[in-house]
Amino acid sequence: MSIEVLLNEFKEIAANPAKQLNDCKAAGKKAIGVLPYFAPEELVYAAGMMPFGIWGSNTKTINRSKEYCATFYCTIAQLALEMLLDGTMDQLDGIITPTICDTLRPMSQNFRVSMGDKMKVIFLAHPQNRAKEYGITFCMKQYGNIRKELEELKGSPISDEAILDAIKVYNKSRAARRKFVKLANEHCDVITPIKRSAVLKASYFMMKDVYTEKLEALNAELEKLPVCNWKGVKVVTSGIICDNPKLLQIFEDNNIAIAADDVAHESRMIRVDAPEEGDPMRALAQQFAMQDYDVLLYDPASEQNRRAEFVAQMVKDSGAQGLVLFMQQFCDPEEMEYPSFKKALDEADIPHIKLGVDQQMRDFGQASTAIQAFADVLSTR
Ligand code: SF4
Repeated sequence: MSIEVLLNEFKEIAANPAKQLNDCKAAGKKAIGVLPYFAPEELVYAAGMMPFGIWGSNTKTINRSKEYCATFYCTIAQLALEMLLDGTMDQLDGIITPTICDTLRPMSQNFRVSMGDKMKVIFLAHPQNRAKEYGITFCMKQYGNIRKELEELKGSPISDEAILDAIKVYNKSRAARRKFVKLANEHCDVITPIKRSAVLKASYFMMKDVYTEKLEALNAELEKLPVCNWKGVKVVTSGIICDNPKLLQIFEDNNIAIAADDVAHESRMIRVDAPEEGDPMRALAQQFAMQDYDVLLYDPASEQNRRAEFVAQMVKDSGAQGLVLFMQQFCDPEEMEYPSFKKALDEADIPHIKLGVDQQMRDFGQASTAIQAFADVLSTR
């Protein structure tokens, strides 16, 4: 299949999650909504169900979720609830609600109360001290609860073998996405920011084996192309999510390619694989324990500013000239990190801009001016 055909397929899927959900239900499969961050989707897959990513929406407006949420909750959380209330997600059989940040913790209870008997709401609390043995034990217990709830929905046990198989499927998928991210940098003339985003976003609305097969086909085609001689500028993107085609169009209009990303919705979720042998529940807990360099996770050595230096190094290694930080409004973890993030970028002489965004943004005039000016600055370096 040609690159163009494959890219169009990913674009269609990323733009039409409702169709994916309909198709899944029409095929007689159960579907579980998976909210950010770090839920063990492998368990859903092992149960023979479809994990369905819920990271807010670029087209909805907050309306009914106001009844449950404080106004200072980020739009990602509020719009996730909006879609559960307005019928968009009625076909789901359940949702998993992780509680990593100060918004998601109370939000998990808003989901529970608002959904009532409509669907199963599966609570997930990750351990703060994830790498310690007691953290791994706690995480295994939490994941055990999820397994039990999914078994109830399934009506039969989920075997260890099925979970180990799911881990292999997910490791393969993460590897393919990491490879795609690298190839997207080498072929940024073909994989524009909008196309790159669509390919990565489609993974949230497909069974991972089907997605991976398609992505591997795309990667194989990209590998046949000569590395492009990019005349524009390159940046690394950072933040929680930047999947809005209108915002990414500004990058394309200004010849800005994305060399790599530190975006939670994109590469941060695929950095770490799970061990493929032994107790599968421990393997999943170990995978979470090994997550690092993420503002959403506790870092006992935070005074060393390791994460910000990691991102600064990413900018250098990827060949980017600068970094664009998409700061979600009302996102405490990102806002609190910014001073140390800026310090590391300044020390490494990496120019950056910070753009305040939220998912209800419809006017990108200000962002357009800022990105255009940033591109001009980078092109002189
Ligand atoms: S955007 Fe920030 S505040 Fe909102 S759910 Fe994510 S981490 Fe929490």
